[in-house]
Amino acid sequence: MTVAELLRQAAARLGGDTARHEAEALLLHTLGCERAWLFAHAGDTVATDVVARFEQVVALRAEGAPLAYVTGRRGFWTLDLQVSADTLIPRPETELLVELALARLAQQVPWRVADLGTGSGAIALAVASERPRAQVVATDFSEGALAVARANALAHALGNVQFRQGHWLAPLAGERFDLIASNPPYIASTDPHLDQGDLRHEPLSALASGADGLQALGEIAAAAPGHLHPGGWLLLEHGWDQGAAVRALLQRAGFVDVATAQDLEQRDRVTLGRLPG
Ligand code: GLN
Repeated sequence: MTVAELLRQAAARLGGDTARHEAEALLLHTLGCERAWLFAHAGDTVATDVVARFEQVVALRAEGAPLAYVTGRRGFWTLDLQVSADTLIPRPETELLVELALARLAQQVPWRVADLGTGSGAIALAVASERPRAQVVATDFSEGALAVARANALAHALGNVQFRQGHWLAPLAGERFDLIASNPPYIASTDPHLDQGDLRHEPLSALASGADGLQALGEIAAAAPGHLHPGGWLLLEHGWDQGAAVRALLQRAGFVDVATAQDLEQRDRVTLGRLPG
């Protein structure tokens, strides 16, 4: 069987809009090749042992395992990141939070930045890569997630990120930052989407937070002022229908210039504010 035939069969089995792209990603993962390889090798015959391994990963995907967990990779910002079932799969909308953070962090300043619930390290590593003089601290409750995040820092040679185990701001006792960012869990624990698609396979602790999805957001907003310098920023990702609620949380905690930014789909996605100072 040739590469082209194998991809056609797999795409037909996977179905859906992204089937062709997914079949390619799974074959490249099986072969350990970069995307450019495909262009020159569509007519190559594929060895039977590779076909067998490819069919195994296509079967996993066809049974519903998220593509990122099957390949163990997901691109975020400019970084190719390792992910595992211990980490949320980084989402494109979280790049909005990175953009908003970078807009508040001028180059060449030794800012102190914290990323709470870092998961695969996506936000912390994106900021660290764009602001090499900044010192970033990334926390996560999950040791499994921190192991993945540390591996990603090492793979991208980002030495300006420290990782600490613990709940939200707990590992930051006695420290203050210029900017705190977080993409915490924000889905209501009764939301039926949790039982659908990729979400079924992701850590529930990274997705759901209380009956209204606002528990972690509320805890972070309340505790953040004690860990920010005067004038310091808090940036929180949240659900499309939580903008007003999160603005109220920030205002109640003493933040000013509180505003909500919308993602590329024009949905409320990130609320931010700064401490007076
Ligand atoms: N944005 C994710 C989703 O709705 C949820 C991630 C989160 O709770 N932080 O699928």
